[in-house]
Amino acid sequence: MRYLYDPPGLLKNIFKEFNWNTVNGKILLTFDDGPLPETTQSILKILNKNNIRAVFFCVGGNVQKYPELVNEILADGHTLGNHTFHHKILTKLTRDGIKKEISSFNDLVREKFNYSAEYFRPPHGKFNFTVKRILKEKNMRPVMWSLLTADYKNDLNLVKFAVDNYLKHNSIVVLHDSLKSKDIILNSIEYIIDKAGKMNFEIGEPSGCLR
Ligand SMILES: [Zn+2]
Repeated sequence: MRYLYDPPGLLKNIFKEFNWNTVNGKILLTFDDGPLPETTQSILKILNKNNIRAVFFCVGGNVQKYPELVNEILADGHTLGNHTFHHKILTKLTRDGIKKEISSFNDLVREKFNYSAEYFRPPHGKFNFTVKRILKEKNMRPVMWSLLTADYKNDLNLVKFAVDNYLKHNSIVVLHDSLKSKDIILNSIEYIIDKAGKMNFEIGEPSGCLR
């Protein structure tokens, strides 16, 4: 299991506009693949209780199905990120296919919520030079991560292990707003908040954490 996402310096240098860690030395929480009726609202509740603002990297198909949940995400002051429309692996698509996956999400949220998506996370973390160029053309900011909690395995012990060993002051943490992590997501969030508090790490706002 690879919790720590720490690609070689060369890669980070070539893709230097990508966010690998936060830029302000605070922790950023991110939630991928939602929104979903089974999970999103309880995640929002716990974030709200702890006065935390996160990035929700949503999938267009789910945004279309559950617009009221997106409204709740936005109403709580969170940031909506583009995680493509169909959660396809972009490196397997043509240039036009990649563009379409990214644009159709942006068009949807602009139309439905008058929202301009600024941040992008590629599904499964897979990108290439074509993805990089398209994001640049669209003036979008790529957000990777530095701590994968493996919450999608639905085993709280794995999350605890990842957080205990790899949480840093500037971690971008990936969690899932998805059925895969449904049983442990709330405990996972609480565990991260507790651990951050014990370590004297601060949890930051998306706009300050990302470039
Ligand atoms: Zn995803």
